[in-house]
Amino acid sequence: MEAVERRPFYLYSKPQITRNVEAYKEALEGLNSIIGYAIKANNNFLILQHLKNLGCGLYCEFDLDNIVSAARIAGKKVNVLLRINPDVDPQVHPYVATGNKNSKFGIRNEKLQWFLDAVKSYPDELTLVGAHCHLGSTITKVDIFRDAASIMVKFIDEIRAQGFDINYLNIGGGLGIDYYHTGTVLPTPRDLIDTVRELVLSRNLNLIIEPGRSLIANTCCLVNRVTGVKTNGTKNFIVIDGSMAELIRPSLYDAYQHIELVSPPSPDSAVSTFDVVGPVCESADFLGKDRDLPSPASGSGLVVHDAGAYCMSMASTYNLKMRPPEYWVDEDGSVAKIRHGETFEDHMRYFEGL
Ligand SMILES: *Cc1c(COP(=O)(O)O)cnc(C)c1O
Repeated sequence: MEAVERRPFYLYSKPQITRNVEAYKEALEGLNSIIGYAIKANNNFLILQHLKNLGCGLYCEFDLDNIVSAARIAGKKVNVLLRINPDVDPQVHPYVATGNKNSKFGIRNEKLQWFLDAVKSYPDELTLVGAHCHLGSTITKVDIFRDAASIMVKFIDEIRAQGFDINYLNIGGGLGIDYYHTGTVLPTPRDLIDTVRELVLSRNLNLIIEPGRSLIANTCCLVNRVTGVKTNGTKNFIVIDGSMAELIRPSLYDAYQHIELVSPPSPDSAVSTFDVVGPVCESADFLGKDRDLPSPASGSGLVVHDAGAYCMSMASTYNLKMRPPEYWVDEDGSVAKIRHGETFEDHMRYFEGL
């Protein structure tokens, strides 16, 4: 199998994807609801097919002008939701906060009437069916969703009062996962849905939820090979073949992802503190900092956990690294490739005929 030769590679658990969807489905029982998977978290086509087979919708977004032109081209009237910025602080890293007043996303209160009038002015193209917000990502306190939902139902009341027959509330995605593996109990999909359930029922709404990370992050790890161990006198480094090109979250927003060696070391092996780094020419090229690990032999395996969301979908060819192949493991333990690794020939194809 190619995976034995080529590192790094992404390895997913198909049953874990199924379990994550089931957790949302069970949490949503008793509500009219849609699970709209946020494709940007992971766009592997076979994973998308699997999610679709499990009943998920697949979501991306456009702006008003684009929707109007698309509706005209298709000759169809389209159902739209207005993305409102409820100005709620999601208490996460600023790069993944999207629903507070300083972010570029969504319509602020002051502009709402302008958009409602705009929708009214395209009666042949647009039907307003609901309101949408998305607060940010890696959220670990579900109160934040309840606060946003209470603000959103007030907007819905206001919009309905103008004669719009809107029946959908989309509260976005954003639920965090346990990246730290410390055993801290984080809110589950059920905790999230239960905090907004009464509000949704009180207005007789259909609830749309758009999870990305919480459906896919914990289903995958990036499998690397250790190329060596070195020290600069003050710090120790484990150098691996994976890098910020395949997994950029630690470099981009100092995200923590749990790291382990593949073969459990003998219990008496000494542990040291290492930065786990790749071969790319950037000091930002690290997968983990200050990790206590036994000293690995060159060639041994090292995994970065919870690499299913915003890892492969953000991978690049920086430093001429080719994007890695993806595999998944099924219920019966069988492994199948679900995307080819990029090759140098793929790269050269962009130059053909020039
Ligand atoms: C990214 C995004 C999501 C998914 O966020 P997660 O944190 O991955 O759950 C949902 N809705 C919108 C509009 C997004 O941009």
